[in-house]
Amino acid sequence: MSDLPHALPRIGLGTDRHRLVAARPCWLGGVLFGDCPVGPDGHSDGDAILHALTDALLGAAGLDDLGTLFPDTDPAWQGVASTEFVQAALAQLSARRLQCWSVDLVVQCDRPKISPRRAEVRARLADLLSLPLDRVNLKGKTREGVGSEIEAVDVTAVVLVGPAT
Ligand code: MG
Repeated sequence: MSDLPHALPRIGLGTDRHRLVAARPCWLGGVLFGDCPVGPDGHSDGDAILHALTDALLGAAGLDDLGTLFPDTDPAWQGVASTEFVQAALAQLSARRLQCWSVDLVVQCDRPKISPRRAEVRARLADLLSLPLDRVNLKGKTREGVGSEIEAVDVTAVVLVGPAT
């Protein structure tokens, strides 16, 4: 391993998938979709957008992944808001004199519809990442009926990370 700081930008990629089940609050991107009858199952709040984002941030910094740093066998992470994972990842980047420069996300699910609240999710993510809105993008896609016997949300996140300024 080379010593830090890193002079070059680096890309991080993260994906996540959660089943959508009844009687779970629907947290996505740190926003509660309160009128959605299903929500992501999981050990934490199941926020697949924030999990994919956290994995992308950790990946860009060469820091393994969310499951390694915040194992679901550790009661400390039981039921936490996934914003804590993002904040913990950002702290790890900051300790290495790195910062997130931009993020792009694709969310695939049939419920909830992302587009009506896309601006809200982008604003929430931009706030979490301390980024201007135009460096945080989010696209919602349907699953086109594929795998419809098991309802789920799939997220892909890509981030650009570089030296802290
Ligand atoms: Mg997850």
